[in-house]
Amino acid sequence: MPKTLTKAGDILSAHVAEAAGATDATVTTTCPSCGTRQKLSEASVAHEGTDTVYTCVKKCQPILIVSDPQRIELPGRGHRYASLMIRNVAELEVSSGRGTVKVAASPAALEAISGRTLKYRI
Ligand SMILES: [Zn+2]
Repeated sequence: MPKTLTKAGDILSAHVAEAAGATDATVTTTCPSCGTRQKLSEASVAHEGTDTVYTCVKKCQPILIVSDPQRIELPGRGHRYASLMIRNVAELEVSSGRGTVKVAASPAALEAISGRTLKYRI
């Protein structure tokens, strides 16, 4: 269970071969509320409970959450990378020395995934 802020870029770099070397500054996504394209390094990031929450640079809504792992699969909540889960509201574009790889949106990213995690409202 993460106890400190865990960066999404670091997780992708560690677990996705095509994204090796990625950081929050090389991961781009779109806020569904305002449509602003932004790097994760531009978003506000905070540690809430066991989650790391990225909020749109214009403060519209959460755009990505890093959560602790869940024992049961909950379709659409996010992408599991070893001991962590990335819940991305919109598609991610991850650039690294190897090119660009896309990570599909998690359509239910902001739904609660267990009693231990928060439900994020838009
Ligand atoms: Zn926004």
